[in-house]
Amino acid sequence: MATVKRASRNTAEQRSSPAVDRDWLRRMYREERDKRLRPDGNDQYIDMSGEYAKYIEDPHVEGCLGREPLSDLVDVVVVGGGFGGLLTGARLRETGITSGVRLIEKGGDFGGTWYWNRYPGAMCDVESYVYLPLLEEIGYVPKEKYAHAPEILAHSRAIGEHYDLYRDALFQTEVIELRWDDTSDRWIVSTNRGDAIRARFVVTASGPLHRPKLPGIPGIKSFKGHSFHTSRWDYAYTGGTCEGNLTGLTGKRVGVIGTGATAVQVVPQVGKWAEHLYVFQRTPSGVDVRGNRPTDPEWAASLPPGWSKRRKENFTNLLSGVPEPEDLVGDGWTDIVARMMARVRNADAEGLTPEGLAEMMEMADFEKMDQIRARVDSIVEDKSTAEALKPYYRQFCKRPCFHDEYLQTFNRPNATLVDTNGKGVERITERGCVVDDVEYELDCIIYATGFEVSPDHVRRGGFELYGREGVSLTEHWADGMRTLHGMQTRGFPNLFLIQNSQAALTANFVHLIDVSATHIAYIVGHSLHHGVQVVEVSEEAETEWVEKIVGSGTPILGGAAYQAECTPGYYNNEGQPNNTPQARYRAMYSGGAVGFINVLEEWRAQGDLPGLELTR
Ligand code: NDP
Repeated sequence: MATVKRASRNTAEQRSSPAVDRDWLRRMYREERDKRLRPDGNDQYIDMSGEYAKYIEDPHVEGCLGREPLSDLVDVVVVGGGFGGLLTGARLRETGITSGVRLIEKGGDFGGTWYWNRYPGAMCDVESYVYLPLLEEIGYVPKEKYAHAPEILAHSRAIGEHYDLYRDALFQTEVIELRWDDTSDRWIVSTNRGDAIRARFVVTASGPLHRPKLPGIPGIKSFKGHSFHTSRWDYAYTGGTCEGNLTGLTGKRVGVIGTGATAVQVVPQVGKWAEHLYVFQRTPSGVDVRGNRPTDPEWAASLPPGWSKRRKENFTNLLSGVPEPEDLVGDGWTDIVARMMARVRNADAEGLTPEGLAEMMEMADFEKMDQIRARVDSIVEDKSTAEALKPYYRQFCKRPCFHDEYLQTFNRPNATLVDTNGKGVERITERGCVVDDVEYELDCIIYATGFEVSPDHVRRGGFELYGREGVSLTEHWADGMRTLHGMQTRGFPNLFLIQNSQAALTANFVHLIDVSATHIAYIVGHSLHHGVQVVEVSEEAETEWVEKIVGSGTPILGGAAYQAECTPGYYNNEGQPNNTPQARYRAMYSGGAVGFINVLEEWRAQGDLPGLELTR
């Protein structure tokens, strides 16, 4: 049976009744948030260069790539070889651009997140039939409802092969600077391999979660045992594969720091093999039912042409509150939103005020989270462990998780939850981790501590961009981000960004990436086919879009008031939402994902690229 070490806090027994007790929950949520707020915000994490560089070395390639630096000219450079880069490459090919497309990727192959994250138990938590891109184009149906990482990586490679994107790709190569050359109207793409590639167009698709981060826990360097980050899983140490069989952990005391979406998948695997597993928890995840199952071959064979697009749209519509006659995916995500939408429809019927509606949504949230907390009680045998594993915050304060073995792991005799009561690991010594003055001796520490999601694009992306007259993007956006559709910004011609601010977001991130890739390929394809040298957003079009966003946009992941009440995490900039005037410029299109898709489709349907200045 798992033991739990934790300081005291409010407990469920203090609730006035088992039914939803709004006042008690509000107080509890606030207390749980307050104890986690810290003034250093994002700065609590360590920049993984210099002495920490070993944590970001690529375990999947042997040695350093030997090749001469390049300074050739290509039509398009795409930064990133994950789904964003692959989709851009694929959609460019579909517009008839058969050559001159160079994907630059720091990993040794395509795959992005799925190249790096090969930890045991890794799988997608959005249904694979809607998450994996280009399924019909490749002619593939995933083997399970939630595909495991090796299958997703193989699919990434299949896209690279199918669209002939390997031909001009540069792997093990990191972009360190993008600089627009006003004299030649080209981008100079500098890399850590000494390349200075000239490109007419550049698309950045480096993804929001690609720079792993370590917590700045005092003494972190002093640990004498083994340690690594989940995104660089060390199978040489643990043995086994992504499927498990971690025989190298036999007889080892292993600490996992972090309990986010990654840890939820890792912990059951480590628990099966380690002599003892200690899970160091700062904030529990909300973990709902997963219900994975193999794909029914008959169902796969019966899928009609267009099924993949239809299913993706059905999922995104349902998550955006757009009515659909049926729920094709029928999973935890659509369940959450269906409950909320049922409330909204009732509210409409009852003619509720916005405040009344907000209260109604809050009650729906309380009910859903109560259900998640009840699930903990129904699975975890030790009562105090169960209590510590219950999340006390609103459901979209953190990534909702779905797993059928995570909570069960804490019933194992070799698993201990070390709850830090919101404070995190206090210290790391040469022997292990210290919490509440107790030292937990460990042979290995696994950091499941996530990725940089700083609002600073250089910190997040790893390089600066210089546009016309050498102005950096940081300077250009000093007073707030400015774009058309979140993809183009004036002063940075022929540049396209795949990201969410001033655009849109849905739980099926890849769907929106594809929407952007398709849109970008349309503009780039049009330009290349019509001899357009320079494409730049007009001042008016940019201003109009920015005003639309700032005037009525939705700050990333929920409203400002919602985020301010949330426990800290990367969704709310570590508890410092809206801490700068620029933050409101990072809002999203207020019409949601479906509205945004419609805006782009209508824009393309006009045929004359409105709002763009074209130079031949
Ligand atoms: P997260 O940022 O979600 O989690 C990091 C964890 O580390 C949190 O539990 C955090 O606690 C904890 N932590 C940080 N510092 C300390 C400390 N000093 N002491 C103790 N704990 C600490 O990263 P993940 O890698 O888990 O997930 C990132 C994202 O990746 C997900 O949100 C999801 O979008 C994506 N993902 C997707 C998957 C998929 O299937 N598609 C699977 C896995 C990840 P706290 O919460 O208190 O900050």
